[in-house]
Amino acid sequence: MYGLGILRGLGITLRHFVETYVEDIRAGLKHYGADEVFSMRQGAQAKGLFTVEYPEEKIAVPERFRYIPFLVVNDEDHPDAPGEPWCTSCGICAKVCPPQCIWIVRGSDPETGRPVPQPEAFTIDIDICMNCGYCAEYCPFDAIKMDHDYEIASYDRTTAHLYNFDKLARPLSYWQRIAPTRAEAERLEREAKEAAKAARAKGKQQGLDIVR
Ligand code: SF4
Ligand code: SF4
Repeated sequence: MYGLGILRGLGITLRHFVETYVEDIRAGLKHYGADEVFSMRQGAQAKGLFTVEYPEEKIAVPERFRYIPFLVVNDEDHPDAPGEPWCTSCGICAKVCPPQCIWIVRGSDPETGRPVPQPEAFTIDIDICMNCGYCAEYCPFDAIKMDHDYEIASYDRTTAHLYNFDKLARPLSYWQRIAPTRAEAERLEREAKEAAKAARAKGKQQGLDIVR
């Protein structure tokens, strides 16, 4: 019958309208600012409409959210190498980056001039980066990860958006905080690889001992 669909649509709109105020009353004075109310109103079971008062309020991003890459470095309380980057300047990320916005200068020993597995310079043009995450997927050393920080607008595009090593570096604890599940899975994988490598080395050594 003509008009029934319109009435149904208006009914849904009216229900959302009423539920908005019912939920507001249920949340009481804690409506704005309280984290638990905010996440409840943004959750899958939320009813009614809820305005996010950005920038005071922000919707939590999922763990797999990705924006600009960052470089993992050791935490400052690391027992052997505080602040040391994980990047070995192998260049794989720069090769796989589709828009070619990563530039790396391999480090070298100042005395011998021989290459060292650390970058002397590492730059990403974040205006060109398309947030695909390939660099993080392909890095064999877990040294580059995708950040959650999306508030990077600035008035100076020429220099402020060329991120150098200092701007890209974040401690491992930061990655563990924003992506706990993945960081833990990666840690276990690294440990398994190290154990397999040690077992292979031990087997090789035992083989040599038998030959001798
Ligand atoms: S792939 Fe990883 S280790 Fe290699 S240069 Fe890129 S960030 Fe560094
Ligand atoms: S996220 Fe994609 S576009 Fe951005 S630097 Fe990494 S590979 Fe390049």
